[in-house]
Amino acid sequence: MKKNEAKSRIEHLSAELKRHNHNYYVLNSPEITDFQYDLLLLELQELEKMFPEFAQKDSPTVNVGSDLSAKEQFEQFPHKYPMLSLSNTYNIGELEDFSNRISKGTDRPFTLTCELKFDGTAICLTYKKGKLFRALTRGDGTVGDDVTRNVLQIPSIPKQLVEGSNFPDEFEIRGEIYMPYNAFDKLNYQRELDEEQPFANPRNAASGSLKLQDPKQVKDRGLECTLYHLLCEEPVAPTHTQSLEKAKEWGLPVSEHFKECNTVEEVESFITFWDTERKKLPFATDGIVVKVNQLAIQTSLGYTAKSPRWATAYKFKPEEASTKLLSIDYQVGRTGAVTPVANLEPVQLSGTKVKRASLHNADQIKLMDIHIGDYVFVEKGGEIIPKITRVDINRRGFDIVPVEFPQNCPVCGTPLVKDEDEAKHFCPNRDECPPQIKGKFIHFIGRKAMDINAGEATIEQLYGKGYIKQLSDLYKLTEVQLLTLDKWKDKSVANFLKSLEESKKVPFHRLLFAIGIRHIGETTAKNIAQHFKTMDAIAAATREEILAIEEVGEKLADSIIGYFGKPEHLRVIGELKEYGLQMELDNTGKSIESEILKGMTIVISGNFTISRDDMKALIEAHSGKVGSSISGNTTYMVAGEKCGPSKLSKAEKLGVKVIGEEEFMNMLKN
Ligand SMILES: [Zn+2]
Repeated sequence: MKKNEAKSRIEHLSAELKRHNHNYYVLNSPEITDFQYDLLLLELQELEKMFPEFAQKDSPTVNVGSDLSAKEQFEQFPHKYPMLSLSNTYNIGELEDFSNRISKGTDRPFTLTCELKFDGTAICLTYKKGKLFRALTRGDGTVGDDVTRNVLQIPSIPKQLVEGSNFPDEFEIRGEIYMPYNAFDKLNYQRELDEEQPFANPRNAASGSLKLQDPKQVKDRGLECTLYHLLCEEPVAPTHTQSLEKAKEWGLPVSEHFKECNTVEEVESFITFWDTERKKLPFATDGIVVKVNQLAIQTSLGYTAKSPRWATAYKFKPEEASTKLLSIDYQVGRTGAVTPVANLEPVQLSGTKVKRASLHNADQIKLMDIHIGDYVFVEKGGEIIPKITRVDINRRGFDIVPVEFPQNCPVCGTPLVKDEDEAKHFCPNRDECPPQIKGKFIHFIGRKAMDINAGEATIEQLYGKGYIKQLSDLYKLTEVQLLTLDKWKDKSVANFLKSLEESKKVPFHRLLFAIGIRHIGETTAKNIAQHFKTMDAIAAATREEILAIEEVGEKLADSIIGYFGKPEHLRVIGELKEYGLQMELDNTGKSIESEILKGMTIVISGNFTISRDDMKALIEAHSGKVGSSISGNTTYMVAGEKCGPSKLSKAEKLGVKVIGEEEFMNMLKN
């Protein structure tokens, strides 16, 4: 390669890899597979070796990618010990080289440990006196985001270690936060209902969840943790495996799948075993980590700028197969999004026969220049559904036909639309297109919407029998109709009707979310309900009035105007109103923010940083009751400045807990 060619290729690769790092670590939305990324990185490494004069100072080959978020979102703290990444290989033969390098670096005998490489997001936990003190993401390796309040929501991470189990006063332990497949499926299912972009794979879902601003949401995400690297001033044991055994005794989650090996052959057979066996695990893994077990040898080997010399990762190559693309189906989802699905000549891949694969959208088909009749590569990575990665151009024949993306909805025939900033095509016929009608009901009955005791199968049947077409039809269902449903008996009918009846009390903001106006999520629904107070006011609002609400953009405003502009919608809402559903904020004129204080009576006394009226409103907004005087029924007294001494002594006498404003505010935050 000529010098100037090398220079421009290095510049190009560096820029591309930086962009992919950003997609991966910050946006949680990678465009390319890990394998493709590693190939680019390898190419850059080789070029930098041949032309060191062109290597950039902050080259992706020496800098670990950064997951740091904006400073307003998370506080940042430096890592006590830098958090590096591991060197990796897809070539089992290179493990021999790794072992030889270690032999050269030490005279002492050593063993190698093999562990599963969990496909999640790295975390560093600090424990002080047995209590979880801080949790940091890897960040840029030197500084990490403080995600402690989110990590506290993950059940497998102990807040307090097992008493008396002899843990050091202070130590760090690192590991991986990951999302098991079942939690991942559940999350993506919900995201599709909420019209949010589903996560590409469990790893992105885990790192996205760890960076949520609301810890309560983190709790619902089903995250898990596994820890694999203990760091403290004085080692607690001479080897890595023994240290992890200790950590386990202290109550920390440590993977049971590891092995201490004496030879590289043993390492290889561990890898071979897990390359197939891992497919049975309920979570994603992407390789095996091999480490020198003896901590003293680890210390003497030390680190390069980017990774430790005493560890490496063998990464499983995603299995790939080439097969013929027979045809493309266009599926219409519940949100009206049209997804192309490839029908393939059946091919064996990762132990299963693959016949269908996702093609995502029209842009991707164009980008990959896919034709019907082409041979394409199908890959199964961490994702559940296999995907087409590229055309096998060497096998292209003459019988290929260009892909023509349909202009009309394959179900209802309506011309499709494509938003400029979205890659997907949509069927705009939300009220008449059958998959969308069903989707509308499934969204309506959801737990965060009307919370009606029924599932997708019930909706499918009710719709199939022609009992429901508009949301208000649900409230017209009769016992006789319901008894015609598959396996439904008196009891299931009674349960369903009772839950329908209860749904009439669901607060206004949730109803607003439930009726499924496009782009209205849970939070936006709350804001809009709070602003306009009644459904009628929203229906009558002008575009400008809607845009005046914070966080409401043009797209949403248009969607609201469009929704209420349709007489059918107004009729359905009129019917729902007649059935007694909540069409305005409750009498107090305040909406409920949380149920943290539900069942509690709280008395306030003294002055606060906010007005006493605001304080009362805050208590009510979190479902608490404001008490006028201290009694046996009082749950807490919130004492401000210049708090009445008689109230204080009465609280003491009755054993009512007195808390300060700050403590109270913290309570609401958790
Ligand atoms: Zn349609």
